[in-house]
Amino acid sequence: MTPFELAQPASLAEAIALLDPNDTAIRPIAGGTALMLMMKMGLYEPQKLISLRGIEPRYSEVAATADGGLRIGAVTPLRQLEMLPVVAERAPVIAHTMRRLSNVRVRNVARLGGHLAHGDPHLDLPPVLIALGATLAIAGPNGERTIAVEDLFQGYLETALAPDELIVEVNVPAAAAHTAYLKHTTRSADDWPALGIAVALDMQGDSVSGARVAIGAATDTPRRLTSVEAALQGEALSDAAINRAGEAAAAEAEVHSDARGSAAYKRELIRVFTGRTIRQATGREA
Ligand SMILES: Cc1cc2nc3c(=O)[nH]c(=O)nc-3n(C[C@H](O)[C@H](O)[C@H](O)COP(=O)(O)OP(=O)(O)OC[C@H]3O[C@@H](n4cnc5c(N)ncnc54)[C@H](O)[C@@H]3O)c2cc1C
Repeated sequence: MTPFELAQPASLAEAIALLDPNDTAIRPIAGGTALMLMMKMGLYEPQKLISLRGIEPRYSEVAATADGGLRIGAVTPLRQLEMLPVVAERAPVIAHTMRRLSNVRVRNVARLGGHLAHGDPHLDLPPVLIALGATLAIAGPNGERTIAVEDLFQGYLETALAPDELIVEVNVPAAAAHTAYLKHTTRSADDWPALGIAVALDMQGDSVSGARVAIGAATDTPRRLTSVEAALQGEALSDAAINRAGEAAAAEAEVHSDARGSAAYKRELIRVFTGRTIRQATGREA
């Protein structure tokens, strides 16, 4: 690993001022679990890292919002999302997802902003946050802007962030009544997923009145599956309707073969796991 300088600013404004829009050799670092591995592999050779760990405490805090949702500071460790009662109460699917997201050593160190900014399509939280309709507050030298989590991901390890912008907050609206995330791994249970599917449903009686469905890992970026959402809207959740949703997911998702399985295998996983995730969210037997 090539030598680098480490800056430890005490405020967000100072951190942003240390970044340079024209110099990608200066990078922010949060937990360092992804960045350090990439530096060891020689994929990144930054000359200066700007640590976000010393900026104002509010960026490491989770707060309940008046609309029933959550405001999560970008420097919050993933372990907090697993342990804090307010997360389990307001967005139980996030707390549940943590249990199989890597191991506790990684979750203790990794931060939510670093997790999202890493931009790896195999990450577990992006499809969950997309299904929940979460947005990001992004700060740069000219102030703050807000984008939907689904608009962050532009390609493999590519995001919509400029080199001098930082994710500062994740805002999760009040969660739908029925939510679930299922990941399928081809190695250990807490390994990177071959497929992740997140579902957020509202029901009126037996019929679906609102549906957001998102996929990760099997596609080149995490994204919504809008044909599945359309297939579910207004439907009573019969076995036939759930099977149709699985077929729609398998038809819509563009999948590629990789070390975790062939495209045909992943397409079959998508078909099966879409139905399972809908059943899990609504308390039906899988
Ligand atoms: C052994 C191992 C197993 C893993 N298994 C899984 C798994 O099963 N599922 C899963 O989802 N993930 C898994 N991960 C990935 C893990 O979730 C990420 O490494 C972690 O979330 C990254 O967070 P970090 O704070 O360490 O980011 P860092 O490594 O600090 O940063 C990652 C990237 O984000 C940038 N950055 C950091 N913070 C910000 C910010 N606020 N704004 C803008 N840019 C920023 C950095 O410059 C860098 O490009 C695994 C990682 C390891 C090491």
